Amino acid sequence: MMSTDADKIPGEIIEDRIIEPSGHCAREVREGEVFRIVDIEGQQVMDFLAFNLNDLDERLSPENTLNLNKQIYPKVGYTLFSDKAGKLMTIVADTCGTHDMLAGACSRYTNEYRYDVPGTANCRDNFVAALEPWGLAWKDIPYNMNVFMNCPIQADGTFSIETPKSRAGDYIDFRADMDVLVAGSNCPQVLNPCNSGNLKPLRVVHYRPG
Ligand SMILES: [Zn+2]
Repeated sequence: MMSTDADKIPGEIIEDRIIEPSGHCAREVREGEVFRIVDIEGQQVMDFLAFNLNDLDERLSPENTLNLNKQIYPKVGYTLFSDKAGKLMTIVADTCGTHDMLAGACSRYTNEYRYDVPGTANCRDNFVAALEPWGLAWKDIPYNMNVFMNCPIQADGTFSIETPKSRAGDYIDFRADMDVLVAGSNCPQVLNPCNSGNLKPLRVVHYRPG
């Protein structure tokens, strides 16, 4: 694999792992630590969310996040807010620049509704599997941010899922603003252009900034 900027980790690595296509992860990240998501090959989305580690009832709110940032599109300096307006994490680096805060997660239900395909692999079920060790279930899991997902909004409000703009080696860094539990789903969607029709691995790096 070619070395990229994503390999230069500015701190002490706590965990560095590959998330296989359609895989998932969850991780406890302490205040001040950083969770990096790397699009190894390009054009692969990770659904991503966070909870207050010390009160798992407090969790990411996409609505509070876009209201309190006064911005729909996540970018450097953008904070992920909880349903109690707590600061969960802030984006501190981003080489891609195109992410989504509105599309939520794919589920077996939306795939059946939109594409008439029952029983598909999906991000909602991935989150359930990733968070089960912390005692969380489907009903406890909020909607999420979509890292590297490209959902342009037209002037008339038309919303669509398009091919990601991320290139090989693009990455985004989330700094924990409190102790958090993060979860990620390497999106298994192949029924729309979300992942350019081809499922690919992602890399996640949990590190303590130096
Ligand atoms: Zn998905």
